[in-house]
Amino acid sequence: MGRLVQHLRENREQINQRIFNTFLRETTELKTKSKHGQIRQFVIVSLRKSQKHQLARRFEQCGRGHQCSYIYCTQCRARYANRLESRINYHIGQHRLNDAEIRQRFRFVTLLHYLVPNEVRQIELQQRQVRRELNNFRRKWFGTWGTGVYEYELIDMHKVCHSNNLSGSGSRKHAVLIGMLNRHVGANLFDDDIGISWADQNGTNRTDYVLLHTHFVMDGGDFDWNDIKENMQRRWAGKYRVDVLPLHSDKPIDESISRVSNYCFKNLGRLTSYNYDFGYYNHEDVSTKRFNAREVASMFVLNNSMNSGNRKGLLLYWNSLRD
Ligand SMILES: [Zn+2]
Repeated sequence: MGRLVQHLRENREQINQRIFNTFLRETTELKTKSKHGQIRQFVIVSLRKSQKHQLARRFEQCGRGHQCSYIYCTQCRARYANRLESRINYHIGQHRLNDAEIRQRFRFVTLLHYLVPNEVRQIELQQRQVRRELNNFRRKWFGTWGTGVYEYELIDMHKVCHSNNLSGSGSRKHAVLIGMLNRHVGANLFDDDIGISWADQNGTNRTDYVLLHTHFVMDGGDFDWNDIKENMQRRWAGKYRVDVLPLHSDKPIDESISRVSNYCFKNLGRLTSYNYDFGYYNHEDVSTKRFNAREVASMFVLNNSMNSGNRKGLLLYWNSLRD
């Protein structure tokens, strides 16, 4: 007993720190859990408001005997991320790549493809075009491997154009989006609002767009990444449209892979906040950036319809590496 008291006395600092860390971890987990609960509730209410009762029910009842497979569902999203992670690890195992080879050959790639009016049909057509572009790219780089996702990020160009938070990276994102929209409609959008709107089937003028982009892990095989990157920048010309990152140099390989896998399915956290960020850029948390119910429902419906039926889903995969 006396020894225990002595031990406690001598190690008081360390023990207190440990207790405090546990406390911190638990409260953070609690916060995260309730945040997910709130988002979940918000999504359900938004879907019901948009008369998407069937989707709402399936989402609500996920886990009770079936899985909803929605990208905005915490459990299903985690399953997608885990599968992506195992696919990457399987590839590493299959080719018996050691850490040095992985660091040399692997890159995490983000490509910004198109800014498309937020309408399923138009996005579907545009995604077909992206698949063609990626197929051409893979043909050129025969002897590579890649896996990742298509992502649809909702962007209200009206808000982007009238954002007063345009310092630093904010102004860069603004410029990139304007540039992409200019390319899309071929107009100069700095002058007025009319240039940024599009008319939907009901003749309503809208300013909501979807930034169609891809995130994937690519094994460049025996190729030089400088050559691949240069070629990407030529194919997807324009500032900041191509982003090629090596794995975190200060983290173990498996942790990096787990991180990028989760990053590919990060949508959930972004659903309730407005996105002027894309790729891996940092998020700026401003309450006016929140999505409204209609926007949430539209993103949910879009992801669901792109992920079902014959639309080939959100996944991206190729393998032309010899075994
Ligand atoms: Zn689910």
